[in-house]
Amino acid sequence: MPSDQGNFGYYYFDFVPPDKQAYNCIKCGACKLRCPQGIDIPVELMRVHTVAAIARLGVDATIIPKQCENKKVVLFGSGALGKSCLKILSSLGVDVYAYCDNNEKIWNTFLDGIRIISPTDLEKIKNNTVVFISSTYYEAIAEQLCSMNIVVLN
Ligand code: SF4
Repeated sequence: MPSDQGNFGYYYFDFVPPDKQAYNCIKCGACKLRCPQGIDIPVELMRVHTVAAIARLGVDATIIPKQCENKKVVLFGSGALGKSCLKILSSLGVDVYAYCDNNEKIWNTFLDGIRIISPTDLEKIKNNTVVFISSTYYEAIAEQLCSMNIVVLN
């Protein structure tokens, strides 16, 4: 139910362990062959994940590609939620430039082929960048971004 999508996003990300979430489907197609209704289950699973994530983020998915046009896209948070966001943005046709993380031990390493940068690096490119907070420490990171003069849209 569209009116209940916010709750769906909340329950999905807070109660379904990351390794059980729909994006773990490897698209092997085994279930598709067995489904008596011919449902394209791998596609539906990705749709479920996307709907949940967008509901959780509280944004209208159709505006995301437009907002990211000609900008560097950075995901702040490189944990499970960051990986989920990467998949969602990819499914919307949005390329991610980098992850950003406060953990200095992982700066300049790569996750899914994408570099993890420091907040200092983010500050250097902030004028041409869209940042998505992809961490459960949303409020703390939002405050951090505000202190860097990066506007946070709620
Ligand atoms: S959901 Fe279906 S396509 Fe995805 S991994 Fe499981 S059996 Fe394979």
